[in-house]
Amino acid sequence: LQRRRLREFTADWVSDHGGTGDRLVVLAGPTAVGKGTVAGYIREHHPDVKLSVSATTRAPRPGEVEGEHYYFVSDDEFDRMIAAGELLEWATVHNAYRYGTPRGPVEEAIAAGNSVLLEIDIQGARSVRRAMPEATLVFLLPPTWDELVRRLVGRGTESPAEQQRRLETAKVELAAVEEFDHQVVNHEVREAAQKVVDLMRPRRGRRHAAPRHDLPRTGGAPHSKESLHG
Ligand code: 5GP
Repeated sequence: LQRRRLREFTADWVSDHGGTGDRLVVLAGPTAVGKGTVAGYIREHHPDVKLSVSATTRAPRPGEVEGEHYYFVSDDEFDRMIAAGELLEWATVHNAYRYGTPRGPVEEAIAAGNSVLLEIDIQGARSVRRAMPEATLVFLLPPTWDELVRRLVGRGTESPAEQQRRLETAKVELAAVEEFDHQVVNHEVREAAQKVVDLMRPRRGRRHAAPRHDLPRTGGAPHSKESLHG
């Protein structure tokens, strides 16, 4: 109960004080956990939430649309974007291609009062935390480890060797869960998407008596921890 009250208190504090905490939300998580599916569901059902469109050096997959799923750029163009400071964060993902978040659209959306969702990898989430400490970091978890393996193997888009490599990475990434403000278990896409969207909504009309300097110290950003397995 204590923990729950702290969580509500900090969420309201951020919204009452007008920070970007509830407006820039990062959704990260291990391979095959369903980040893309959850983000896609939010894109379709919550048009008020702006999804950041990343730049990437990988080639488009069938059905992917330039400017909607990604900006597909050359290595030279990606180098130029880094040098010009146009990326809020970037990372080489799965030792293969580079992915980065264009800074301009994120800053413009926040300035206009919109909520922005970044669906990026864990290295990227850490970079955002450094660049914008008030961002809300959400970690998407699989219901169980076996379920994660089942989803990765089941989608059949990676070779067995690549699957093995991603699972090794996933083990390391799951250990980063404690660095995140919130954890959402992806049992089912609609439910998980709703939980993420709820974290982006400013809470109005609920006030707490405690003034700002009474905010309990939690050693950094407000945290709300739920168990790894939901
Ligand atoms: P995919 O190639 O399957 O679309 O994405 C591969 C990985 O890249 C996913 O884990 C996705 O979250 C991550 N990713 C996509 N865009 C970005 C970005 O802008 N920055 C970072 N750091 N990771 C990204």
